[in-house]
Amino acid sequence: MPESFAPPARTLMGPGPSPVSPDVLAALARPTIGHLDPAFVDLMDETKGLLQETFLTQNRLTMPVSGPGTAGMEACVDNLVEPGTTVVVCRNGVFGDRLRQMVERAGGVAVVVDAEWGRAVPPETLADALVEHPEAEVVAFVHAETSTGALSDAETLARIARDHGCLVVADTVTSLGGVPVRVDDWGLDAVYSGTQKCLAAPPGLSPVTFSDRALERMDARETPVQSWFLDVSLVARYWNADGAKRAYHHTAPVNMIYALHEALRRLQGEGLEAAWARHRRMHRALAAGLDALGLAFVVPEAERLPQLNAVWIPDGVDDAATRRRLLDEHGLEIGGGLGDLAGRAWRIGLMGEGARPGPVLACLGALEAVLDRSGGVEAAEPLLDAVAA
Ligand SMILES: *Cc1c(COP(=O)(O)O)cnc(C)c1O
Repeated sequence: MPESFAPPARTLMGPGPSPVSPDVLAALARPTIGHLDPAFVDLMDETKGLLQETFLTQNRLTMPVSGPGTAGMEACVDNLVEPGTTVVVCRNGVFGDRLRQMVERAGGVAVVVDAEWGRAVPPETLADALVEHPEAEVVAFVHAETSTGALSDAETLARIARDHGCLVVADTVTSLGGVPVRVDDWGLDAVYSGTQKCLAAPPGLSPVTFSDRALERMDARETPVQSWFLDVSLVARYWNADGAKRAYHHTAPVNMIYALHEALRRLQGEGLEAAWARHRRMHRALAAGLDALGLAFVVPEAERLPQLNAVWIPDGVDDAATRRRLLDEHGLEIGGGLGDLAGRAWRIGLMGEGARPGPVLACLGALEAVLDRSGGVEAAEPLLDAVAA
C-alpha cells in the first residue's frame, strides 16, 4: 500500500492555486454531512450571501458551480449562447481564446477582437466591432488576463456592450478579491470566477452570478443548453430554491463549500477595499524588488494586475532549470509563460494569502539566489512596513 501523501512545503506564487490559510484548510477537514441536510442548506444560503457581497451584486442567481473556473466559464457561455448567436469575444491572451472556443462549440458565431498580448483590451476596438456587427447579442471578455498580467477596463467595455444592446460575459477568475469587481454598478450579466486565486481557497469551485437580463435570455432559449450538468435552470433548482422545493441535481462538493464559506468569511472580515489595497501594496513592493533585480515587466504600468506580475526572462537564463531550482532549493513556485509568452516570461502571483510581506520577500530572496543578483529584498522592504504579516 502506498504511503499517505504528504505534500512538500511550497510557497505558491504562480498563477494559482494560491496559498490556503490554515483556517480554510481546517474548514475543509470538518465532517462531511448530507448535501440536503438542513444545516448544509443554511450554509449554502450563507455562502450565496457572501458571494453576493464579494461580487457586489444583488443578483438572486449567485452560486458556486461545482468545478474549477473553466466550469464557470462554460456555464456562462453555454447558457447564453445558442446555435447562431453572434458573440464578440475580446482576446488579449490565452483565456480570451478559451472563451472563443467555447462560443464556437456552443454553436455561436465568434467575432474576435484581437488585442496585443500584455495589453488591456482597447475599448474602441470593441466599439468598432459592435458597429460592424449589429447582429451581436453578447460580448465576452477577460477582466484580468492571467496569461499576461493585463487588467482591462471592465466598466467601460461593459458600457459599450450595453450601449449596443448586448449582454456582458465577464471572466473575473483572477480579478475577484484582488482588484475591484462591481457586478451591479458595471452592469455585468454573466460573471464567473474561481476559488484558487484571490479568494484564497483550494481549487474546485467556480462562483458565478447572473443578472435578471441574463435569466430572461435563458428563459427565452429555443434550444436546450448543450450541457446538462451546467444547465443553470436545472442547477438553480438546487442552489436557488427555497426550503422543501430544493431538489437534487448533483451532489455538491460539501467540504469545498465549507472551505469557500470560510475563505469568503475571512475576506469580508478584512473588507474588500482593504484586500484590494493589500494586493496593490504587495505589488508595489514586489515590483520595486523585481526592478532592482533587473527584471522587466511585460505589461505597461497603467495596465498591470497587482496580483499577477509577468516579467521577461533575462537573456541567457534557462527558464525550466531556473524554475526547477526555485522549487527544489527554495520551495517556491512561480509560473512559466503561457501561449505566446511560453519560455519568454515568468508569472509571479500575489494572490490572496500570497499577497503578504512574507511571500514577497521569500520570492525576491529566492530570485536573488538563483539569478546571482542582489538588491531585490532591500528595495522591497521599505514598502512593506505597517502591514500585518
Ligand atoms: C485560472 C483562470 C481560468 C481557469 O480556471 P481553472 O480553475 O483553471 O479552470 C480562467 N480564466 C482566467 C482569467 C484564469 O486566470
